[in-house]
Amino acid sequence: MSTPEVKEKVNLLNLTRDGMVEFFSELGEKPFRATQVLKWIHQFGVEDFDEMTNISKACRAKLKEVAEIKGPEIVSVQESADGTIKWALHIPGGQAIETVFIPERHRGTLCVSSQVGCALECTFCSTGYQGFNRNLSTAEIIGQVWLAARHLNGLHKSDNRAVTNVVMMGMGEPLANYQPVVNSMELMMDDNAYGLSKRRVTLSTSGMVPQLKRLIDDIDVALAISLHAPNDALRDILVPINKKYPIAELMPAIHHYLDNSNAARKVTIEYVMLKGVNDSLQHAKELATLLKNTPCKINLIPFNPFPQSDYATSTRQSIDSFSDFLIKKGYVVVTRRTRGDDIDAACGQLAGKINDKTKRQTRREQSSSAETVSNKKYKKQIPVELSN
Ligand code: SAH
Ligand code: SF4
Repeated sequence: MSTPEVKEKVNLLNLTRDGMVEFFSELGEKPFRATQVLKWIHQFGVEDFDEMTNISKACRAKLKEVAEIKGPEIVSVQESADGTIKWALHIPGGQAIETVFIPERHRGTLCVSSQVGCALECTFCSTGYQGFNRNLSTAEIIGQVWLAARHLNGLHKSDNRAVTNVVMMGMGEPLANYQPVVNSMELMMDDNAYGLSKRRVTLSTSGMVPQLKRLIDDIDVALAISLHAPNDALRDILVPINKKYPIAELMPAIHHYLDNSNAARKVTIEYVMLKGVNDSLQHAKELATLLKNTPCKINLIPFNPFPQSDYATSTRQSIDSFSDFLIKKGYVVVTRRTRGDDIDAACGQLAGKINDKTKRQTRREQSSSAETVSNKKYKKQIPVELSN
């Protein structure tokens, strides 16, 4: 006797609006059900079909049979004295990713992860140091927004305890996990889901040029580029993907996005300040020349140290001189300040727990003794913009 096939339930958090319409049409239901269910899930944070009171009992029964609403499993929630919240989320295989909520006076920014680790090995990044395991699904990405919104008890409130902005600046390189990231950003902006405006959803990338070139055909959001160096020689070291896609290819891809976007009239240029590495006036000069024809805002990020790193944070004085030089050249420059250091969270250098498939640790051990690994306790800090 053959065992009946057990069909896996569809996790509705994986579905965008179009996916939801298709799902209901396959169930023999009307398309307006898609809107109703999207609202229940994303606007009311419901996970039990029985709470969906405007859906008929028969339809709810059908849904229970074939579908589920399964958000990420929370391992821990930490709240900082300044209101910053960090969630550690369970990922199968004994792993964890992190999501951070940063409240400010007029907004609440959620820093979302896109991968378990990152394969790109930027030399100053703690996530890159830890290696890579796998891409997150749409449910796991939008699920971070879903659970933060549930925790904060409702979106669209005017106080700063709601998610008003999302930045794809957690763990991972968003453009290396293209479709689930695009799907998730679509849901962030969908009026029946989170309804955030295009300018309040930011994709940050280290510069995966082929994906960046096609991105505007699929989604229009605010764009941030992790530049970190004004020339290829230095960027090859700090952001190794630059060897594949050098600055001369990255800049036209940025322009292509800006030229065709309604959301990103300016690109945010992220520039981590590393003492004695990329923070001299000569570097500032080169940067000013490089960005001459690019509408942009420059974000200087004081380096957040982690134990295995040899880099140090630039001094306050060199950050100020760097910034002043660029401001005199007519650039808008924002230096991020740190927040939430009492809960050890940093947007852009989150730790998590990654079963590295890239064998980075082994390769490191084999390749050189040059790297220093110290176990000393470190303080990670959340970089937050001083002003906008
Ligand atoms: N992978 C994407 C998005 C995640 S990283 C990217 O690289 O853009 C988000 C931001 O944090 C990037 O600008 C990244 O360069 C920065 N970052 C990474 N490690 C950091 C550190 N140790 N200190 C300060 N900023 C860091
Ligand atoms: Fe990956 Fe971004 Fe870290 Fe580079 S900075 S290793 S791209 S997460």
